[in-house]
Amino acid sequence: MKIEKKYHFYAGHRNKTAGEKCGRMHGHTYDVTCTFKFTEINENGVTMLFSDLDKITEPIIKQYDHYFLLYEKDPMAEIFELAGEPYISLPFQTSAENMAIWIFNEIKKQLPIVKITLAETKTSKIIYEG
Ligand SMILES: [Zn+2]
Repeated sequence: MKIEKKYHFYAGHRNKTAGEKCGRMHGHTYDVTCTFKFTEINENGVTMLFSDLDKITEPIIKQYDHYFLLYEKDPMAEIFELAGEPYISLPFQTSAENMAIWIFNEIKKQLPIVKITLAETKTSKIIYEG
């Protein structure tokens, strides 16, 4: 039995290793779709309540909401620090691929996630299945 849940967050980022366009500071509405796989249904006919999935998954995804995401080695982090501007430092270039893998692994620590889809735009998304 698989359950699919959709989430989203808004964030700014840049990826200096992915060409001029992605290297500029910009933002996305990240649409995240998580697929969970369960092997058992309880006596009430439920695998896991959608709301219980949300209680674990939403804080993981929403921690990035309305923040600027920066690779920890991006020199821009120093500017953000000097300006006292909040941002989230990540141990990887903030490509959609890396974000999908990172979020997938964070969720996998607590839930049986088997697939994540992360879309940066209406036409482009990453599908990661672990
Ligand atoms: Zn981008």
